[in-house]
Amino acid sequence: MREIYFPGFNFKTFEPVKLLVENFADSPKIIDSDKAETVDLDDLVRKLFSDSEKMTQIPWTQNQVKKEFMEGLRSLNTEIGHSGLTIRDKVIRFVTPEVINRLSDLEGQAMQNRYHEIIELAGSCRRNLDGTFLLKIGFATQEETTSKDTILGVMAHEYGHALGEILDSAVFEELKAYAFENFFLRCFKKRLGNHLTPMLDEGVHDTALFYLEQLLIRGISEEAIIAHLTRRPFGIFQPEDYSRFL
Ligand SMILES: [Zn+2]
Repeated sequence: MREIYFPGFNFKTFEPVKLLVENFADSPKIIDSDKAETVDLDDLVRKLFSDSEKMTQIPWTQNQVKKEFMEGLRSLNTEIGHSGLTIRDKVIRFVTPEVINRLSDLEGQAMQNRYHEIIELAGSCRRNLDGTFLLKIGFATQEETTSKDTILGVMAHEYGHALGEILDSAVFEELKAYAFENFFLRCFKKRLGNHLTPMLDEGVHDTALFYLEQLLIRGISEEAIIAHLTRRPFGIFQPEDYSRFL
């Protein structure tokens, strides 16, 4: 029998047109050259300076990111009131984007079956038979073009897949990972997940994000979502606590 997640909660089906898309539709305006604003040179210098400052902040090392990720897990442990989030049973390995996206025929077929498409991977989470995990992070050699926070988000996402069991539903499995990613970035970085951005198709990942958004809007926290999807307490939340918000 197929498992039902969040019984009693009616998920809206996918709506391709989202409010956020409208906000993002701010295409560049064409300004009549006669009416164009003059550029304040002071401003220009400030802008160039702040951009170059940003550039010098971008490079990161794998060890720095791993250290910061562990720091993040510790801050989440403080937040939820126990010390269950560790990397003791996990190996985190950085690989290049080419390596993480090189799939064998069998892996390609498995992805096609589960996601109905071939997805470009940023990270992956493998469960070993002995209960340990291998988290692959596909950003080796990308130090100049990706920010540390992007990597932390992907690490948190893959870590989320390692919580509880793998769910039979690909959408709810992704929802579990996105919920943890969002929880991590919200608590540790005080901002929303990388992915709460416009959704343009109805693939598994976008549907999972759309579901996450609906649950959060109803006041069902990431912790309650994780507790439900892992079927075990998470922080102060029990697996069925989400239903208090229905
Ligand atoms: Zn995922």
